[in-house]
Amino acid sequence: MNKNITPISTFSIENIVRKSILKMKPYSSARDEFKEFETKVVFLDANENPFSNGYNRYPDPQQKQLKTLLAKQKKVSLNQILVGNGSDEVLDLLFRAFCEPNQDNVITLPPTYGMYGVLADLNAIENKEILLTDAFEPNVGEILKAVSENTKIIFLCSPNNPTGNSFSDESILYLLKNFNGLVVLDEAYIDFSSKESWLSELNDFPNLVIIQTLSKAYGLAGLRIGIVYASEEIISILNKIKPPYNLNTASQEIALKKLNQNTLAAQLKKLISERENVINSLKSITFIERIFPSDANFILVKVDDATLRYNQLIQAGIVIRNRSNQPLCENCLRITIGTKEENNQLITILKSL
Ligand SMILES: *Cc1c(COP(=O)(O)O)cnc(C)c1O
Repeated sequence: MNKNITPISTFSIENIVRKSILKMKPYSSARDEFKEFETKVVFLDANENPFSNGYNRYPDPQQKQLKTLLAKQKKVSLNQILVGNGSDEVLDLLFRAFCEPNQDNVITLPPTYGMYGVLADLNAIENKEILLTDAFEPNVGEILKAVSENTKIIFLCSPNNPTGNSFSDESILYLLKNFNGLVVLDEAYIDFSSKESWLSELNDFPNLVIIQTLSKAYGLAGLRIGIVYASEEIISILNKIKPPYNLNTASQEIALKKLNQNTLAAQLKKLISERENVINSLKSITFIERIFPSDANFILVKVDDATLRYNQLIQAGIVIRNRSNQPLCENCLRITIGTKEENNQLITILKSL
């Protein structure tokens, strides 16, 4: 479908940012004030240890090299990017910038990623939960009914964790056009999806905030790198409140190196083909009642008795995730796609149970 339709919403950033944040000036660190010089200079400004060991200097607070590369690869402008210590940090920044504690609310769509609710609680923000439909799609009518004048953010996770499906373009578009707060679209699994990212629509929707991460497809979960793509206005607000040195030097260096290696496409191809292999093998397991379609690097399955099967797998040395306690996920297990050997091991054990 054509996503390029002019939005009719009357979104205005001044209306939704917290008043105290609107007034704030960003903390200016030593490295913010002086960092780039034509000639070699002596740094005596940040109380660092002068003896060189590779990490004795503070990291670049604006992660310029990393963001320049991301901007080029993702075809967005440098000022539309903010990088943080994992998606967890950037999600928290969104709460702190836009949601007034004990006053504002957000909308989340269970079953979904647990951190939105945790961060809402942490920030004293009401979390209005509107269940996905039985087809695991946003219930757009109920969502808009739940919107009040204090609703600041709707969180959409697509492809969704733990269900694995992508939401329809129509639902996402409808919410973007009819909600005057932020629509935060978590694309942690977008690289595994048959659908395209909404990044190319960023300039058309001032209320669109896209979250991506280097933790999944890019294989860098240990570095903790989460990324926000949004309008320059939104990014400049988040920049005011982010901790100055939020991404350490080692993470910036390694991420830059890995992003330049272009190993992504080959690994994605393998993982997606493994996903299809695993789905096919799971079809022969008699106690698996349903295999949900997946646009991610995991598969949600419904079994006869989730706790029993989960424990049996643990006994056999394989850890998966029991998602039974989530709404709409009764007796459901979430299985991450591993290497071919790991997946074969899983299938062999499942067949033996
Ligand atoms: C794994 C995951 C993330 C990634 O979190 P990081 O803090 O960047 O590692 C974000 N959103 C969803 C929905 C996830 O499943």
